[in-house]
Amino acid sequence: MAAQIVSGFELAKEKRAQLAKEVEKLKQAGIEPTLSVILVGDHPASQSYVKAKQKACEEIGIRSILLTFPADICESFLLEQIARLNEDRSVHGILVQLPLPKQIDELHVIETIAPEKDVDGFHPLNIGRMMTGQRTFLPCTPYGILYMVQSLQVDIAGKHVVVVGRSNIVGKPVGQLFLREHATVTYCHSRTNDLAAITSQADILIVAVGKPKLITSQHVKEGAIVIDVGVNRLENGKLCGDVDFDDVKEVASYITPVPKGVGPMTITMLLNNTIQAAREQHQ
Ligand code: NDP
Repeated sequence: MAAQIVSGFELAKEKRAQLAKEVEKLKQAGIEPTLSVILVGDHPASQSYVKAKQKACEEIGIRSILLTFPADICESFLLEQIARLNEDRSVHGILVQLPLPKQIDELHVIETIAPEKDVDGFHPLNIGRMMTGQRTFLPCTPYGILYMVQSLQVDIAGKHVVVVGRSNIVGKPVGQLFLREHATVTYCHSRTNDLAAITSQADILIVAVGKPKLITSQHVKEGAIVIDVGVNRLENGKLCGDVDFDDVKEVASYITPVPKGVGPMTITMLLNNTIQAAREQHQ
């Protein structure tokens, strides 16, 4: 039987309706949740991600402020802007759209954001808090993935979760979040020998690589849950995931599509984190 499609789009709609009510409550208490987004340069993909984030903020009543700077700014200038936003009590969340131009050290920039305003959850302090099970901002894409799997009402404890990809923003943290939920977690990456032998043991397979259709039915166990994080632009202009959707849906029990899968959940968790930041800064 073909897999059920897990619509991140629909889940995001439900969650955002709930978040809009929380924003309303905060506003009644005199707090206007505010996100400041910094965009450096004019990379088209970054521009469209930023636009989508701002639109999502507007839709649920979060104020968003966009600061754009030319690609040739120096690092110290950018750090000054962040320091200014750190001090601004009307700004609750700060997001620097990545990637940044080569002359700017991304880690340095992330470390400059005040941890209590780091709504992307990338600050090393927040990553450490996540790994040690403390309350913090969870990184948006991993958090969205966990939310999607939890929405399926499956018991994650004891399941074998295989994560393909080990980036700092998706692969590594998503594995940690499932470990926190008591899954047994295996990481695969570009040096993994015999990828299919490992992925085909997964009860839950999460793929975050950036290679179109890398994962086929040969890589997937019958009945597995497959979460496709990849977003790849094909020559015909269409978007495609890292999973061969038509092939894998014949063996999986649940599968996320691309687009309208993980992407909308990532933005939803950014909204969630901004509201959390506003609430906590006024407590
Ligand atoms: P990175 O390029 O930072 O990491 C890719 C990972 O894939 C690396 O760990 C790399 O291994 C691994 N890898 C590369 N080739 C193979 C292979 N043949 N077999 C197994 N592993 C391989 O990417 P990101 O994590 O930033 O993003 C991954 C994908 O997810 C991209 O398509 C990106 O656009 C998408 N994305 C989607 C989001 C959403 O909201 N939907 C949010 C963020 C990302 P190694 O470490 O050894 O190099």
